[in-house]
Amino acid sequence: MPEPDSSPIPFDNTYVNLPEKFYVKQTPAHVPDPQLIRINQKLASQLGIDLEWLASPDGVAVLSGNLIPPGAYPLAQAYAGHQFGGFSPQLGDGRAILLGEVIDRDHIRKDIQLKGSGKTPFSRGGDGKSALGPVLREYIVSEAMAALGVPTTRALAAVTTGESVLRQEGSIPGGVFTRVASSHVRVGTFQYFASRGDTEAVKILADYVIDRHYPECAKGDYVELLTKVMQAQARLIAKWMSLGFIHGVMNTDNTAISGETIDYGPCAFMDIFHPHCVFSSIDQQARYAWGNQAQIALWNITRFAETLIPIIHQNKEKAIELAQEKLSEYSDYFNEQYQSHFRKKFGLTDSTNDQLIQTGLSLLANQQIDFTIFFRLLTRAANDKDGNDTAALKAMFPDQAEYMKWHQTWQNAINPEESQQLMQSANPIIIPRNHRVEQAIQAAYKGDFQPFHRLTEALQNPYTVQEQYRDLEKPPTPEQIVRETFCGT
Ligand code: AMP
Ligand code: MG
Repeated sequence: MPEPDSSPIPFDNTYVNLPEKFYVKQTPAHVPDPQLIRINQKLASQLGIDLEWLASPDGVAVLSGNLIPPGAYPLAQAYAGHQFGGFSPQLGDGRAILLGEVIDRDHIRKDIQLKGSGKTPFSRGGDGKSALGPVLREYIVSEAMAALGVPTTRALAAVTTGESVLRQEGSIPGGVFTRVASSHVRVGTFQYFASRGDTEAVKILADYVIDRHYPECAKGDYVELLTKVMQAQARLIAKWMSLGFIHGVMNTDNTAISGETIDYGPCAFMDIFHPHCVFSSIDQQARYAWGNQAQIALWNITRFAETLIPIIHQNKEKAIELAQEKLSEYSDYFNEQYQSHFRKKFGLTDSTNDQLIQTGLSLLANQQIDFTIFFRLLTRAANDKDGNDTAALKAMFPDQAEYMKWHQTWQNAINPEESQQLMQSANPIIIPRNHRVEQAIQAAYKGDFQPFHRLTEALQNPYTVQEQYRDLEKPPTPEQIVRETFCGT
């Protein structure tokens, strides 16, 4: 394979130095006609990548997997995972290849990974490819999440491949997504070794993770590592829930040890609020519904804790006791995070009126109210000079009298100016609504990438009023509602 003269991506790899059983060396597949869809210029600069080169034919060749830049060491990572509660001892990167790592401008190590770049030894029955739809979906949603302030993997680029992939819907255009992550180590990576009884590998991985993500942990303090990972998950899920985000596949292989949101499959933002809301077509039992996510994260972290038992203490009973003690702190920690987000959303400056959070959310659920629009209007109504915003808010509710009872109590509990400021920072004006993501994907399938670019750009400033994107704030009309989302794999 030809290589460019110099190294336009400043690789500095560490995962490849771990024992060979952690990964399999794997070259990406060649694709016939790679074309650039979009590059994330800000992120590229943050990673120290030459922008001009990245958009050049050589750069696009790298982004499609056709060219391996100097310093890259392409590999597929091994991992296992509990999927919908059932354990698979061997999953691994079946359609993703890690090119390598770079140190970004903030001195943080980042993985650069191609997703949809061909088969690996972990592909099982899959083709290792990605359809264009899931590539665009991950680009839009992960970048929106970043702008919303949610820890997440990022989108560096998206390309089309010039070949088709066969999916349920038929033959559709393929794409490659370039993902940037603080790392791709998952709870499932620990499970891969633990389930094989390979305690030495678990320890090597735990030390690697402490070094890379939690250097504040004392060396060898795996209870502290468990605490950090657990807290990062709790913070993440509380933030998701405050935005009405439903991940959709919270399997242990999709739970990043770094605490970033990873693996955007059938994820979605709710329009109408309901705690049981679920979109994923493969989540028939509603295991990963909006309101279940906190419990599921604890379930996943408990699986993580299990892998650490042999390295926490040589006495198994003692180790279990130590881990359980930590896990028992999850609920309080999560609740603190959750309440703190929702206090901000409702403009409550302290905890004395916390009951308004639950009663407010129950009203939304019972009267089928759009989550984002409600909080947007509530933010405006916090400091309502002429009564117009309160009137608009009231008009959303079928039972207006019932709503106004709650509203009065709320109004008495807040402090107009201070509350409004809080609320503005917690209540986005624009989110990646399902029907808009779907429209952008459908237009792209017809060759028109404009809706995708426009949506991506609008979502970069979710907390600011942007007159030119007012249409993107709107909830779907009945015909536009997307009721199910798909992995597309
Ligand atoms: P995900 O749904 O992305 O969490 O993937 C779950 C597992 O299925 C991972 O091991 C993936 O690598 C694998 N997988 C998903 N899609 C494909 C595909 N098209 N080809 C091969 N493996 C895949
Ligand atoms: Mg996954």
